[in-house]
Amino acid sequence: IISKLPNVGTTIFTTIGQLALQHNAVNLSQGFPNFPPDPALLHLVDEALQLDYNQYAPMQGSKALRETLSEKTEQLYGKYYHPDTEITITSGATQAIFTTIAAFVNPGDEVIILRPAYDCYEPAIELFGGKVVPVDLVGKDFEVDWEALKSAVGANTRMLIINNPHNPTGKLWAEADMQKFQEILSGTNVILLSDEVYEHIVFDGKPHLSVSKYLDLASRSFITSSFGKTFHITGWKIGYVVAPKELMKEFHKVHQYNVFSVFRPAQYALNQYLKNHDHYLELGSFYQQKRDYFLEAIKTSKFTVKPSGGTYFQLLGYDQISEENDMELALRLIKEYQLASIPISVFCGPSYNQRYLRFCFGKTEEVLDKAAEILIRIQ
Ligand code: PMP
Ligand code: GLN
Repeated sequence: IISKLPNVGTTIFTTIGQLALQHNAVNLSQGFPNFPPDPALLHLVDEALQLDYNQYAPMQGSKALRETLSEKTEQLYGKYYHPDTEITITSGATQAIFTTIAAFVNPGDEVIILRPAYDCYEPAIELFGGKVVPVDLVGKDFEVDWEALKSAVGANTRMLIINNPHNPTGKLWAEADMQKFQEILSGTNVILLSDEVYEHIVFDGKPHLSVSKYLDLASRSFITSSFGKTFHITGWKIGYVVAPKELMKEFHKVHQYNVFSVFRPAQYALNQYLKNHDHYLELGSFYQQKRDYFLEAIKTSKFTVKPSGGTYFQLLGYDQISEENDMELALRLIKEYQLASIPISVFCGPSYNQRYLRFCFGKTEEVLDKAAEILIRIQ
């Protein structure tokens, strides 16, 4: 077989998830909440089935949901996206990302990613013949090396992919970062793909700076979000993407022949729910409490902490514990301690030499307690 992706193996989330199951480990690896969504949302799916929202949704997604999302985006970020031409409901943010890449990346085109980078970007770029141009985030704070980014942008650059808040580091971009992105892309034809799936999970009173707030960036951008993260329904695999009309037109050319449209009952339910509930606006404080609970519980452990600024992930450094690389340690913790985490080197390039494991704290206090008890025991 001639593989189109000879260097691609199995995603870390599957590999570690299976091992966690095998070893009956406390699972803080793959990012998903271990508590149920609001029963009111579940009830609305039932209602959708009974009301017979059981046939195809329009290609762009339910019109009512697109209208609600248009209002939401305008209220939150001050940017109007037309519901008919500039918003599309997708099968998770993953499909939005894949389809954007499929629609724009030609063989030989360069796509810049900031490493550590979420793992679905690279294979999609390569599948369409694009060349991945990685720019490493540097230092303990995973800062952008602006000079490196600037010199990575050239005549062949088709796209830049950014992620805010950032998985796996928990980094939240600041105003100065957004201004820099704007400055560097200004005057180029580069398309920006902004992965904002954790837009509502931000901490310490800091705002989420969506690309949609920056007009020059927004005019060249696809911005994707995921209902999975916002409503504790990662298994529904539903999200959306916004972009200016001319860009979205190209997206639809692929989307219509890839999925055409996505699970209709969920779209009815999410629209009704969004119209009547706004507690997703409290999602940041909800997860901040969990972050703080987890950090307090592991206070006496030898792992080092820089509190996460957003997402439901916390990196823990293990310099004082082991000289193993993060993959070795992650595997050993599953086998010897029944605790599963994600080694972040899988999202990094070969020169990455920091030592962190990623833990998902989107869990009940009972599970966080169990994990903390183990983390304290690891010497
Ligand atoms: N981007 C990032 C940064 C993520 O962490 C995830 C996590 N699942 C996704 C995209 C994919 O989102 P979805 O599950 O909606 O496809
Ligand atoms: N986004 C989730 C994480 O980072 C994983 C989603 C997946 O398994 N592909 O943990």
